[in-house]
Amino acid sequence: MKINLISLIIVFFLFCNKSYCQKIMNLDQLIGLNNNNLIGDSIKLESETYYAFKKMQIAAKKDGFNLKIISAYRDYERQKLIWNNKYKKFTEEYSLNPNEAILEIIRFSTIPGTSRHHWGTDIDIIDGNYPDENDVLISKKFEKNGIFFKIKSWMDENSEKFGFYLTYNNDINRKGFEYEPWHYSYRPTSIKYYNAFINNDIEKIIKNPDLKGHEFFTKSFIDKYITENIMDINPDLK
Ligand SMILES: [Zn+2]
Repeated sequence: MKINLISLIIVFFLFCNKSYCQKIMNLDQLIGLNNNNLIGDSIKLESETYYAFKKMQIAAKKDGFNLKIISAYRDYERQKLIWNNKYKKFTEEYSLNPNEAILEIIRFSTIPGTSRHHWGTDIDIIDGNYPDENDVLISKKFEKNGIFFKIKSWMDENSEKFGFYLTYNNDINRKGFEYEPWHYSYRPTSIKYYNAFINNDIEKIIKNPDLKGHEFFTKSFIDKYITENIMDINPDLK
Protein backbone atom coordinates (compact mmCIF):
# COMPACT_ATOMS: atom_id res chain seq x y z
CA MET A 1 0.00 0.00 0.00
CA LYS A 2 1.34 3.38 -0.94
CA ILE A 3 1.29 5.86 1.89
CA ASN A 4 0.80 9.48 1.08
CA LEU A 5 3.81 10.96 2.85
CA ILE A 6 2.67 14.57 2.63
CA SER A 7 -0.68 13.73 4.26
CA LEU A 8 1.16 11.93 7.03
CA ILE A 9 3.40 14.92 7.64
CA ILE A 10 0.42 17.30 7.70
CA VAL A 11 -1.47 15.07 10.14
CA PHE A 12 1.61 14.80 12.35
CA PHE A 13 2.06 18.58 12.57
CA LEU A 14 -1.63 19.19 13.26
CA PHE A 15 -1.50 16.64 16.05
CA CYS A 16 1.85 17.92 17.24
CA ASN A 17 0.66 21.51 17.66
CA LYS A 18 -2.42 20.51 19.60
CA SER A 19 -1.03 18.21 22.22
CA TYR A 20 1.93 15.96 21.50
CA CYS A 21 4.64 18.62 21.25
CA GLN A 22 3.25 20.49 24.24
CA LYS A 23 3.43 17.32 26.34
CA ILE A 24 6.98 16.49 25.34
CA MET A 25 8.31 19.93 26.27
CA ASN A 26 10.59 19.23 29.19
CA LEU A 27 8.63 19.66 32.43
CA ASP A 28 11.81 20.54 34.33
CA GLN A 29 12.25 23.52 31.97
CA LEU A 30 8.75 24.71 32.76
CA ILE A 31 9.11 24.58 36.54
CA GLY A 32 12.57 26.05 37.02
CA LEU A 33 14.55 22.84 37.51
CA ASN A 34 16.47 22.92 34.22
CA ASN A 35 18.05 25.97 32.63
CA ASN A 36 20.20 24.29 29.97
CA ASN A 37 18.38 26.13 27.19
CA LEU A 38 19.08 29.61 28.56
CA ILE A 39 21.74 32.12 27.61
CA GLY A 40 23.29 35.08 29.42
CA ASP A 41 25.40 35.45 32.56
CA SER A 42 23.90 37.20 35.57
CA ILE A 43 20.64 37.75 33.64
CA LYS A 44 19.56 34.47 32.04
CA LEU A 45 16.94 34.26 29.29
CA GLU A 46 15.62 31.86 26.70
CA SER A 47 17.59 32.68 23.51
CA GLU A 48 14.82 34.25 21.36
CA THR A 49 13.75 36.38 24.32
CA TYR A 50 17.36 37.38 24.93
CA TYR A 51 17.94 38.65 21.39
CA ALA A 52 14.55 40.36 21.17
CA PHE A 53 15.30 42.17 24.42
CA LYS A 54 18.71 43.28 23.14
CA LYS A 55 17.01 44.78 20.05
CA MET A 56 14.46 46.58 22.22
CA GLN A 57 17.19 47.84 24.56
CA ILE A 58 19.14 49.33 21.63
CA ALA A 59 16.00 51.04 20.30
CA ALA A 60 15.30 52.43 23.78
CA LYS A 61 18.84 53.74 24.01
CA LYS A 62 18.45 55.58 20.70
CA ASP A 63 15.46 57.33 22.26
CA GLY A 64 17.50 58.17 25.36
CA PHE A 65 16.31 55.42 27.72
CA ASN A 66 18.32 53.00 29.80
CA LEU A 67 16.11 49.92 29.82
CA LYS A 68 17.32 47.61 32.57
CA ILE A 69 16.24 44.09 33.52
CA ILE A 70 16.22 43.52 37.25
CA SER A 71 14.77 40.02 37.15
CA ALA A 72 14.71 37.47 34.34
CA TYR A 73 15.05 33.70 34.79
CA ARG A 74 14.50 32.57 38.36
CA ASP A 75 14.93 28.92 39.32
CA TYR A 76 12.72 26.79 41.56
CA GLU A 77 15.05 27.06 44.57
CA ARG A 78 15.08 30.86 44.39
CA GLN A 79 11.28 30.99 44.18
CA LYS A 80 11.08 28.55 47.10
CA LEU A 81 13.28 30.85 49.17
CA ILE A 82 11.05 33.84 48.31
CA TRP A 83 7.93 31.83 49.20
CA ASN A 84 9.21 30.45 52.50
CA ASN A 85 10.67 33.80 53.63
CA LYS A 86 7.41 35.61 52.92
CA TYR A 87 5.36 32.91 54.65
CA LYS A 88 7.56 33.14 57.74
CA LYS A 89 7.39 36.95 57.75
CA PHE A 90 3.61 37.12 57.31
CA THR A 91 2.80 34.45 59.89
CA GLU A 92 5.41 35.40 62.51
CA GLU A 93 5.98 39.16 62.20
CA TYR A 94 2.49 40.13 60.99
CA SER A 95 0.68 37.34 62.88
CA LEU A 96 -1.47 36.38 59.90
CA ASN A 97 -3.05 32.93 59.96
CA PRO A 98 -1.76 30.48 57.32
CA ASN A 99 -4.61 31.11 54.84
CA GLU A 100 -4.29 34.87 55.18
CA ALA A 101 -0.51 34.64 54.74
CA ILE A 102 -0.88 32.58 51.55
CA LEU A 103 -3.39 35.05 50.08
CA GLU A 104 -1.05 37.91 50.94
CA ILE A 105 1.91 36.18 49.23
CA ILE A 106 -0.01 35.45 46.04
CA ARG A 107 -0.91 39.10 45.52
CA PHE A 108 2.53 39.44 43.85
CA SER A 109 4.51 36.19 44.26
CA THR A 110 3.94 32.81 42.70
CA ILE A 111 3.91 29.37 44.24
CA PRO A 112 7.27 27.77 43.26
CA GLY A 113 6.95 25.75 40.06
CA THR A 114 4.31 28.11 38.63
CA SER A 115 6.37 31.26 38.05
CA ARG A 116 6.61 32.55 34.50
CA HIS A 117 10.13 33.62 35.47
CA HIS A 118 11.02 29.87 35.42
CA TRP A 119 10.63 29.97 31.62
CA GLY A 120 13.27 32.61 30.81
CA THR A 121 10.67 34.40 28.69
CA ASP A 122 9.61 36.97 31.28
CA ILE A 123 11.37 40.05 32.58
CA ASP A 124 10.94 42.75 35.19
CA ILE A 125 12.23 46.07 33.90
CA ILE A 126 13.09 49.47 35.34
CA ASP A 127 14.88 52.63 34.24
CA GLY A 128 18.60 51.99 34.79
CA ASN A 129 19.24 55.70 35.37
CA TYR A 130 18.24 55.38 39.02
CA PRO A 131 20.80 52.87 40.36
CA ASP A 132 20.40 53.93 43.99
CA GLU A 133 16.63 53.56 44.13
CA ASN A 134 15.43 50.91 46.61
CA ASP A 135 12.13 49.01 46.43
CA VAL A 136 11.82 49.55 42.70
CA LEU A 137 8.84 47.28 42.05
CA ILE A 138 6.15 49.61 43.33
CA SER A 139 3.28 50.42 40.93
CA LYS A 140 3.19 54.10 41.93
CA LYS A 141 6.74 54.56 40.67
CA PHE A 142 5.55 53.66 37.14
CA GLU A 143 2.63 56.09 37.24
CA LYS A 144 2.51 59.82 36.52
CA ASN A 145 5.07 61.70 38.67
CA GLY A 146 6.83 58.37 39.47
CA ILE A 147 10.51 57.97 38.55
CA PHE A 148 9.75 55.14 36.09
CA PHE A 149 6.81 56.84 34.38
CA LYS A 150 8.86 57.91 31.36
CA ILE A 151 10.28 54.46 30.68
CA LYS A 152 6.83 52.90 31.19
CA SER A 153 5.43 55.35 28.62
CA TRP A 154 8.19 54.33 26.20
CA MET A 155 7.33 50.66 26.79
CA ASP A 156 3.59 51.37 26.26
CA GLU A 157 4.49 52.89 22.91
CA ASN A 158 7.10 50.39 21.74
CA SER A 159 7.41 47.08 23.61
CA GLU A 160 4.85 45.12 21.58
CA LYS A 161 6.77 45.92 18.35
CA PHE A 162 9.55 43.81 19.85
CA GLY A 163 7.23 41.06 21.11
CA PHE A 164 7.06 42.12 24.78
CA TYR A 165 3.59 42.31 26.35
CA LEU A 166 2.56 43.37 29.84
CA THR A 167 1.49 40.16 31.56
CA TYR A 168 -0.44 41.35 34.61
CA ASN A 169 -2.10 44.40 33.09
CA ASN A 170 -4.38 46.92 34.77
CA ASP A 171 -7.67 45.60 33.38
CA ILE A 172 -10.00 45.98 36.37
CA ASN A 173 -11.80 42.74 35.46
CA ARG A 174 -8.61 40.69 35.58
CA LYS A 175 -8.23 38.50 38.67
CA GLY A 176 -5.13 36.81 40.10
CA PHE A 177 -1.91 38.73 40.53
CA GLU A 178 -2.10 42.46 41.00
CA TYR A 179 -1.11 44.96 38.34
CA GLU A 180 2.61 44.71 37.64
CA PRO A 181 3.69 47.55 35.33
CA TRP A 182 7.25 46.17 35.31
CA HIS A 183 6.58 42.55 34.24
CA TYR A 184 6.70 41.71 30.51
CA SER A 185 6.50 38.42 28.64
CA TYR A 186 8.11 37.75 25.28
CA ARG A 187 4.97 36.67 23.46
CA PRO A 188 6.31 34.38 20.67
CA THR A 189 8.01 31.99 23.09
CA SER A 190 6.02 32.45 26.28
CA ILE A 191 2.79 31.42 24.51
CA LYS A 192 4.34 28.02 23.76
CA TYR A 193 5.54 27.66 27.35
CA TYR A 194 2.14 28.74 28.70
CA ASN A 195 0.24 26.18 26.62
CA ALA A 196 2.68 23.43 27.52
CA PHE A 197 2.55 24.34 31.20
CA ILE A 198 -1.23 24.39 31.61
CA ASN A 199 -1.42 20.89 30.15
CA ASN A 200 0.46 19.49 33.13
CA ASP A 201 -0.80 18.32 36.51
CA ILE A 202 -0.34 21.69 38.23
CA GLU A 203 -1.75 20.45 41.54
CA LYS A 204 1.06 17.91 41.72
CA ILE A 205 3.65 20.60 40.91
CA ILE A 206 2.28 22.92 43.61
CA LYS A 207 1.99 20.41 46.45
CA ASN A 208 5.60 20.25 47.54
CA PRO A 209 6.05 19.39 51.24
CA ASP A 210 9.14 21.66 51.30
CA LEU A 211 6.91 24.72 50.92
CA LYS A 212 5.75 26.39 54.09
CA GLY A 213 1.96 26.33 54.34
CA HIS A 214 1.60 23.57 51.71
CA GLU A 215 -0.88 21.73 53.93
CA PHE A 216 -3.30 24.63 53.41
CA PHE A 217 -3.27 24.25 49.60
CA THR A 218 -6.78 22.81 49.37
CA LYS A 219 -8.31 21.56 46.12
CA SER A 220 -10.54 24.64 45.85
CA PHE A 221 -7.60 26.97 46.59
CA ILE A 222 -5.50 25.30 43.89
CA ASP A 223 -8.33 25.40 41.33
CA LYS A 224 -8.83 29.11 41.98
CA TYR A 225 -5.07 29.77 41.83
CA ILE A 226 -4.85 28.04 38.44
CA THR A 227 -7.87 29.84 36.99
CA GLU A 228 -7.03 33.27 38.33
CA ASN A 229 -3.30 33.56 39.02
CA ILE A 230 -1.98 31.38 36.22
CA MET A 231 -4.61 31.77 33.52
CA ASP A 232 -6.10 35.23 34.04
CA ILE A 233 -3.35 37.18 32.29
CA ASN A 234 -3.21 39.57 29.35
CA PRO A 235 -5.29 37.66 26.73
CA ASP A 236 -2.68 38.46 24.06
CA LEU A 237 -0.39 36.01 25.84
CA LYS A 238 -2.65 32.98 25.50
ZN1 LIG B 1 8.12 39.52 37.33
